[in-house]
Amino acid sequence: MTPLFDSAEVSRRLLAWYGREGRDLPWRETRDPYRIWLSEIMLQQTTVAAVIPYYKRFLERFPTLDALATASLDDVITLWAGLGYYSRARNLHRTAQQIMAEAAGAFPDTLEGLTALPGIGRSTAGAILSIAFDIPAPILDGNVRRVLVRLFAWTEDPRSSRAEKQLWAWAGALTPEVGPHDYAQAIMDLGATLCTSREPDCGSCPLQEICLAYKEGLATTLPIARKKSKTPVRQQVALIIHSPAGILLRQRPAEGLLGCLWEFPTVDLSGGLKPEQAADRLLSDLGLHGVLDKNSEIRHVYSHFKLELTVFSIDVGPAGIVSERSAHRWCSGTELEMLPLHGAHRKAYNKFKANS
Ligand code: SF4
Repeated sequence: MTPLFDSAEVSRRLLAWYGREGRDLPWRETRDPYRIWLSEIMLQQTTVAAVIPYYKRFLERFPTLDALATASLDDVITLWAGLGYYSRARNLHRTAQQIMAEAAGAFPDTLEGLTALPGIGRSTAGAILSIAFDIPAPILDGNVRRVLVRLFAWTEDPRSSRAEKQLWAWAGALTPEVGPHDYAQAIMDLGATLCTSREPDCGSCPLQEICLAYKEGLATTLPIARKKSKTPVRQQVALIIHSPAGILLRQRPAEGLLGCLWEFPTVDLSGGLKPEQAADRLLSDLGLHGVLDKNSEIRHVYSHFKLELTVFSIDVGPAGIVSERSAHRWCSGTELEMLPLHGAHRKAYNKFKANS
């Protein structure tokens, strides 16, 4: 299929539309690479509506790269709690420290410099270069990818290496030398507001007259859907152990899934054990004793698995106040409200409070 347009036609149409319809978003009031970078990282896998309050709170607490670099990782994770994909928060913190230490706080303005930093891939680097520095650099985030697949009516698997190569080539060819700052935001806005995954609003789209998917009646069938693999299910048992010293929590290791987040002592349900047996065993591994009271069953979906969590509460009384093991801490209700618990455990705590 031969395109019905040249690259200048696409940017001309997009820029005119963006001038009329572009969204007024907090990170559009600045060219500060720190703020642009923060918004781009927060927007990965997350909607604009969810990001805005986090973005504002984050900048109130860490208004500069230096403020972020000198903060504790715990403080950063606490502010991130609820936004998900926590490796983003850890990478932000590491990157801020790296730029402060190696470049005296000067944000890199090259593709190589940016992609050498933790958590910055080629597309995020392209967005930072275009939006903060007005340097033409292609972007291929989820929204842009969908627009290009449709604009060029790409009918193959959009996740293949062949597609990857072709989409980057198109993204590069369409990025204008003049005005990449507005173009980058315009094409991302188009994907977010009109060329949406389920119901593209072709009637309002500035690219309608040149869009091959529209012309071929393929707008709602492209990109072709990924064959869904079954999401694995993990079963775990968690203990809400309380004593006059508070409720026992532990912090997950910094590296790995849900790193640095807090949770109740938890164990995988394996080896044919019943939840009560696994709970008893975990309690005794902690050197504690008490009567288990089944509190709730929680279901929570994480990015790569579904969690089924059986929650027991146990009052271990004053005798149960053993010394805190590494990464474990007795917390008051107020402290617990402030700590970043990961999703399933926050739900479990809310149910525990409601049942108490
Ligand atoms: Fe997307 Fe429809 Fe616009 Fe094509 S015409 S780019 S399918 S919204």
